[in-house]
Amino acid sequence: MPNCPKCNGEYTYDDGTSYVCPDCFYEWTQRDMEILLEEATIKDAFGNELKDGDNVTIIKDLKVKGSSDVLKQGTKVKGILLRDAGDGHDISCKIAGFGSMNLKSEVVKKI
Ligand SMILES: [Zn+2]
Repeated sequence: MPNCPKCNGEYTYDDGTSYVCPDCFYEWTQRDMEILLEEATIKDAFGNELKDGDNVTIIKDLKVKGSSDVLKQGTKVKGILLRDAGDGHDISCKIAGFGSMNLKSEVVKKI
């Protein structure tokens, strides 16, 4: 049984049509879980799923915050790490000449 998506309780059970959490009385379906999983997936600009360690290229010129440098379209980024970011910068990476940066997944393409 999956843990409760609301309170993370582990005493969930299947009542035939949905899952039920006895701790917080939350009920959810298999479809709800698929949607949650879908939302948790980080995708590149073309809908490819990204994973830790992937290599990507940047698909458009990006201004670097706090400097006059520009990250050029086509810049290769090796070994990205995904992060849970509220600001949309869901990729953490190191770029030669720029150092550690956070990027938005919508500006990269998996290679
Ligand atoms: Zn619960």
